[in-house]
Amino acid sequence: MIKDDIHECAGLPPLRTNKNNDRKEIENEPKVKNLINTHLLLSKNMKILLDDLITLSDKIEEIVFSDDPTAKFLVDSVMLKYPTSGENVKHLRNYLFHMPLVHPDIRRKTQKFAAEELKIRTEVNDVLLNELATTTNQTVDTINKFEKNHGIDLDITRNVTIFICAKCKSINSIDRFKRGKCRCGKLINSSSSAQQKSFTILNSAVRKFIAQDMWLEEGFAYLLRKKGYQVKTGISILGRSGVFHEIDNLAEKDHKMRLFCECKSSVLKLKDIFNFIGKMNEIGCHCGIMVTVADEVELDILKVARGNNITIVSSIYKKSPEQIVSEIPNCPI
Ligand SMILES: [Zn+2]
Repeated sequence: MIKDDIHECAGLPPLRTNKNNDRKEIENEPKVKNLINTHLLLSKNMKILLDDLITLSDKIEEIVFSDDPTAKFLVDSVMLKYPTSGENVKHLRNYLFHMPLVHPDIRRKTQKFAAEELKIRTEVNDVLLNELATTTNQTVDTINKFEKNHGIDLDITRNVTIFICAKCKSINSIDRFKRGKCRCGKLINSSSSAQQKSFTILNSAVRKFIAQDMWLEEGFAYLLRKKGYQVKTGISILGRSGVFHEIDNLAEKDHKMRLFCECKSSVLKLKDIFNFIGKMNEIGCHCGIMVTVADEVELDILKVARGNNITIVSSIYKKSPEQIVSEIPNCPI
């Protein structure tokens, strides 16, 4: 249940607001705060870093968190050794991982097949574990280089521990040791029957912060504050029709200026600006800023913006923070 607040700023009409719990959770994560406090969110280098880290983390997650990372490799390898027609692939997959449905052709080769499977599975697992180590090193080195270049401390990752079967090198449990039987048949009943390894990925709240474009909202909020505004990010505000509308930044100044911001990591479309105007009218705010990382803004959008008291701030990556601050209006414009 989301609790509503009354937002008051003397001299301005009060607003009924709320913030969803997901958003609060992300904002309260210390690693997200660490990232915000670098004050580098709108720099191109930071965006490149975060995109690189997401790619590396995706690679690790694909290996660690998929049901059976060796499955695809195994089926491909085994298919080469035991050619079957295309329609038998499903049966082969079932044989390898669930054992219930076995195509007669494969059943005849059971013993030889099982030994072969263990051998290939172990080889493939070795390759995947090496890949994990390499990707973790790349993650750590990439962050380390950025920290050194910018003279900052960037604490945005988490370490994950995995427990590996000593016989076939499959990952059997993640984060904490769990007893059980490995796919290869080996009983994993104590931590000594499993090898332990750890790797580094982006903290999950940090991932959401990037994926949901909160970096852009928080990055711009920092510059609004530099301009003298008090800012709230990522809130919903009640409109006159009784519907709440998401507003990226609510900025207020000197108890007489209020403006809304809409932040877009993509090219602005006409419907974006009309949607924004709709929210402004509904809530009763007559001054806005649309922020975009894109360089090109359609002439029609610029005209609609000008006619509705909206400032467009584009090409974020190409401008210095000072230049962006200078473009932020002192409402009313
Ligand atoms: Zn095993």
